[in-house]
Amino acid sequence: RCYRSESSTVTLERGRIAIGGNEFVVAAGPCAVESEELLGATADAVVQRGAVLLRGGAFKPRTSPYSFQGLGESGLDMLDRTRHRTGMPTVTEVLEPSQVDRVARSSDMLQIGARNMQNFPLLKAVGRSGRPVLLKRGISATVEEWLSAAEYILSEGNFQVVLCERGIRTYENSTRFTLDLSAVPVVKSLSHLPVIVDPSHSSGRVDLVKPLALAAAAVGADGLIIDVHVDSREALCDANQALAPEQFASLMGSLDRILTAV
Ligand code: PEP
Repeated sequence: RCYRSESSTVTLERGRIAIGGNEFVVAAGPCAVESEELLGATADAVVQRGAVLLRGGAFKPRTSPYSFQGLGESGLDMLDRTRHRTGMPTVTEVLEPSQVDRVARSSDMLQIGARNMQNFPLLKAVGRSGRPVLLKRGISATVEEWLSAAEYILSEGNFQVVLCERGIRTYENSTRFTLDLSAVPVVKSLSHLPVIVDPSHSSGRVDLVKPLALAAAAVGADGLIIDVHVDSREALCDANQALAPEQFASLMGSLDRILTAV
C-alpha cells in the first residue's frame, strides 16, 4: 500500500537509475516528440548537462483538438531508437488501456498525465504492465485522491510508482497552474512513494522553471521533470515553458548548490 512510512525506490529497467534513493534524478526533454533529429539533439544536450531520463510525448492530450496531438506510434519508434542510441531510459505518456503494451515496448517508464489521474481502467492497465509508472497529480486532485489513484496501480501488484506534483488549478492565473510545493513534504510524510516535481507544466513560463525547480529540491523532492527543446521557441507544444539547453545548464548548476545545502 502507498501509506507506509519507510521510503521506497523505483528502478528503471535499463539501467543504473533509482528514483527515491540518495540521488536527485532529473528527467528532461521535449514536451512532444517532433522528429528524430530534434529528439536526438535534445537528448544529447540534456544528458551532457546531467539529466538521466529522457521525457517526450508521442501521444499528447491537448486542451484543443486543433493543437498538435503528437506523432503517435512513429513518435514511440523515435523514442525507442533514441534510448538505444543514447542509453538514456525514457518516460512517455500513455492515454488508453489498449495502448499500454505498445507504449511499454518502446519506453522504460509509463506516464499517466494529470488529466488521466482518475482514469481507473488506465491505472489498472499500467498496474498490470509491471512497468515503472510516473503518476502526475490531477489538476484538481487532493493529496488523498492522488494517493488513492496510486493505490490502484499498487493494487495490481506494481509497486514501481513515482508521483509527480505538476500544479493544481486555483483562482490564481498569473501561472498556468499553482505549483503545490507543500504537497511534497506532505506526501513524503504519508507515503513511501518517491515524489518528483514538474515546474514546466505547472508554471507554463520559462522564467519560472528554474526558481520553482530549485524550490522543489529545497522542499525534499526526489527529482524533477523539465521541458527542454534545442529549438525552444519553435517547439510545437508548450513553447512558452520549454528551456533552451543553456537555460537548462544554468538550472542544473544552481541545483547542485541547493542539493549540497539541504
Ligand atoms: C506532459 O508532461 O507532457 C503533460 C501533458 O503533463 P500534465 O499531464 O502534467 O499536463
